[in-house]
Amino acid sequence: MARAEAAPRTSLTVREAAAAVLAELRPVESETVSLDAALGRVLAKDVVSPLDLPPWDNASMDGYAVRAADVRGARHDTPVALPVTETIAAGAMATSELTPGTAKRIMTGAPVPCGADSVIRIEDTDRGDERVLIVDPRDAGRNVRPRGEDLAKGAVAVPASTVIGPPQLGVLASVGARTVSVHRKPRVAVLSTGDELVDVDRFDEVLAGRRIVSSNSYTLRAALTITGAEVIDLGICPDDRVALRASLQSALDAKCDMVITSGGVSVGTFDFTREVLRELGATMRFWRVRIRPGGPLGFGLLGGIPWLGLPGNPVSAMVTFELFGRPAIRKLRGETRPFPHVFGVVMDEEVSIAAPLTHFYRATIRRDDDGVAHARLTGPQGSGLLTSMARADALVVVPLEQFGRGPVPVGATLSAVPLGDGAQLAAGLAL
Ligand code: AMP
Ligand code: MG
Repeated sequence: MARAEAAPRTSLTVREAAAAVLAELRPVESETVSLDAALGRVLAKDVVSPLDLPPWDNASMDGYAVRAADVRGARHDTPVALPVTETIAAGAMATSELTPGTAKRIMTGAPVPCGADSVIRIEDTDRGDERVLIVDPRDAGRNVRPRGEDLAKGAVAVPASTVIGPPQLGVLASVGARTVSVHRKPRVAVLSTGDELVDVDRFDEVLAGRRIVSSNSYTLRAALTITGAEVIDLGICPDDRVALRASLQSALDAKCDMVITSGGVSVGTFDFTREVLRELGATMRFWRVRIRPGGPLGFGLLGGIPWLGLPGNPVSAMVTFELFGRPAIRKLRGETRPFPHVFGVVMDEEVSIAAPLTHFYRATIRRDDDGVAHARLTGPQGSGLLTSMARADALVVVPLEQFGRGPVPVGATLSAVPLGDGAQLAAGLAL
């Protein structure tokens, strides 16, 4: 067990910090894109249906359109015989009304003719061409999907702020939206700081023991991309005031919607990020959050552009991106529910905390046969252990109130923040 530590004095809780970040953000403006290009974007305006859907009463079965009153007495031993006056295909209209005492053969989706109120499934008939025998009355009054059942003309088909996925694209296509108004992708500048950092093309220097790869450049660019941002990559900047100032100035020049830096926000001798930001006239909103990993997190406004300063440790950078960066991007791109969908997990191992901070532990999740999620830590939780992040399904949250109350026992329930798309949490089709 690690020694107990005092809480940093000027720090926010995770909730306060998240609220402070989101309070400074507004959704970016909209643009018009083709329907296919709208996948994954957020709708900027309600799309109203110009028609009823379905546009006509239509058959939900292949069979015979009839009047219920004509078939109620049908039995296997005393079938009802009706003359068949025509066949209506899915793309066709009936040429006449259905007159009492007759039937029209009809295909699924085809318009139900005037006068008919039922479609008798083909299995309850002799499939006759000129005359049909109906042997069961169970479909009397059934199998007609009414016009406008799905969507009435003038109704909102897809509301603004909806994230457009496959079903939304289908609805938009059905109401004739060939182009849609969506929020443009937020432009996010990302900068890694540190004298020790190189890109993978200089791996010989890493092998020589002089440098490390800037893995944050990769994790953050990727996390931004899958969150729907357009990445403006400012590369790697050494711990040098002049170079840092030039890099941050280029972020401003790039007219980005947000700047994300990693490293240099702690209390080290070469942690210049906050100092240079202040020289550039930035206003600091907060520095330090009562979390682990990721405590030395900074947030402010640089020329009106939100700046999020993530700590350099690879896990800290990723965890703080999940907690603050991703919700920020989601708000910028027009989403109204930006926070992750936290779920409950039963702990399969005891966990404890050694400081009054909210802890985010990397964990693997297993679903038991009843679908209950069980969590185990990935092992040691050092903030430099990036492979443990790569193995984690979720971050288990141990609230700061747990401090001083002893370990959270096996079998206790904690909250967890899913990592990735959560798909890997299911071992099989748990139905
Ligand atoms: P800092 O926040 O700058 O004090 O960095 C904390 C730790 O994270 C140090 O061990 C750095 O070497 C490491 N680190 C900083 N930036 C990166 C990065 N871009 N990629 C990988 N590790 C980093
Ligand atoms: Mg550094």
